[in-house]
Amino acid sequence: MTYKTADNRTVPEPVLRQIHQYSFYKTSENRQVTLAVLEIRQPTLATLSLVEVTDGYEIFAAEYLTGILAMRLAEGWILNSASERHYVLAVPSLDESPSAAMPICARCGSNRIVRDACARWNSATGRWALADVHDCAFCEACESEGDDLVRLVSGEETPAVRTAEPDQ
Ligand SMILES: [Zn+2]
Repeated sequence: MTYKTADNRTVPEPVLRQIHQYSFYKTSENRQVTLAVLEIRQPTLATLSLVEVTDGYEIFAAEYLTGILAMRLAEGWILNSASERHYVLAVPSLDESPSAAMPICARCGSNRIVRDACARWNSATGRWALADVHDCAFCEACESEGDDLVRLVSGEETPAVRTAEPDQ
């Protein structure tokens, strides 16, 4: 399956669909090596997906993908979620700095929120790399735990510690 034709496909504005391709001939193995990353951009979201990898070049491909990711992060995009072959990026609105929204605990209002995540060993860099951030969050202040625990507040709102739940 090839994705080359997708590059020339007309997609209505403002969606951008682009294939980043890196290809070379490996003489010692007598074969063509191809890596391809599909980038889809929407007004507020962008995705980077590894869509083509020659067998045995998975580490090269992961580095190629993170290289493109690094370019987007340098442009101001924010990493929303990550997995081995797929990244989701969000663009901050122009009048809002990335730190304008802060996650707080939906139960007690504390900002001492931690998220579960998983890390994958990257043999190319010899380091653990963040692979995915899970929905489940934990509040270090009230010790609540759950998928719906995180609430985002704007920077002006000071997180106030409430003593009790208003309902229940
Ligand atoms: Zn809490």
